[in-house]
Amino acid sequence: MSRLHSRSWVREAVRIIEADANRSADTHLHVFPLPPEWGIDLYLKDESVHPTGSLKHRLARSLFLYGLVNGQIGQDTVLVEASSGSTAVSEAYFARMLGLRFITVVPRSTSPEKIALIEFYGGECHYVDRAPDMYPEAERLASECNGHYLDQFTYAERATDWRGNNNIAESVYAQMQSERHPVPTWIVVGAGTGGTSATFGRYVRYKRHTTKIAVVDPENSSFYGAWETGALDYATGMPSRIEGIGRPRVEPSFVPGVIDEMLQVPDAGSLAAIRVLRERTGHWAGGSTGTNLFGAFTLISRMISEGQAGSVVTLLCDGGERYANTYYDDGWLAQKDIDITPYLEKCRKFLVSGKFSPEI
Ligand SMILES: *Cc1c(COP(=O)(O)O)cnc(C)c1O
Repeated sequence: MSRLHSRSWVREAVRIIEADANRSADTHLHVFPLPPEWGIDLYLKDESVHPTGSLKHRLARSLFLYGLVNGQIGQDTVLVEASSGSTAVSEAYFARMLGLRFITVVPRSTSPEKIALIEFYGGECHYVDRAPDMYPEAERLASECNGHYLDQFTYAERATDWRGNNNIAESVYAQMQSERHPVPTWIVVGAGTGGTSATFGRYVRYKRHTTKIAVVDPENSSFYGAWETGALDYATGMPSRIEGIGRPRVEPSFVPGVIDEMLQVPDAGSLAAIRVLRERTGHWAGGSTGTNLFGAFTLISRMISEGQAGSVVTLLCDGGERYANTYYDDGWLAQKDIDITPYLEKCRKFLVSGKFSPEI
């Protein structure tokens, strides 16, 4: 670890990553149509349009740059991660760009589609039997091959520059500039690593915005309980069914002090909301986008009942193609015993009446 990496290689690596960002456009901020008389505007920041299809593209870029400037990544470094999902896909993309070997530790139960996506970008999968074994195994593997454990769950919150530097928050505020309510009343995000909520929460404080941060949490997740009780060792030990968000343990990157409110969202509500998104905007999205929308609807109904105008911004975290055989498949929903029907009704009624009661 103490070995010095070639400075010229690191310089070139940073340039390559910057050049990739330079070739990419900023992600869109879509309008979700609401009845104009409400005086409230809802926006979705479309993170599915990144080259690797999710908001993890930003995280992977930040983790690579962080590792490079910290002298942890050099031309012979083997990169290791614990992820079976979008993070591994994005990291594999950047590793290949730099000509580095990338190994991700995944549970044996990971779907072949996800393995294929990681391998498509040149990543290697290393299997463990149980999900909790991913972390110690990634650490072991990294030290065995004198590599670098990217460790998304620890470093997500600090790898991103919260003051700006083109982070997701700065981009949203710039894109909101010409809107009728340019400073959002609420920003609604989910938490997987907790990095996105930390970035938004810190940014709005630093910029002295009045915007509040709401974090939506799916069933079985530990974040809500931890935020409510202040106990960061709060752990449900249960996996989330909404990919990308909700964790069996509170991850080190979760920063509860910058979260103004947390909302628990039923999984059937999240999965109904992505169907409604498709109906109203034509966009396909993953489950966590549904959780975001459900939370946004809850807060908008509250604003309406309090006679408050304003704007709400949330995220389209990843596209729906990855979920054609799961969230968008009625057979899959039935098999998982998830009934979205009452929630579909609830969402559709909300978009007419502005009422979104907690009960269904
Ligand atoms: C990671 C992820 C999130 C949550 O973002 P964090 O910054 O890790 O909290 C939400 N949705 C999807 C699809 C994700 O992959």
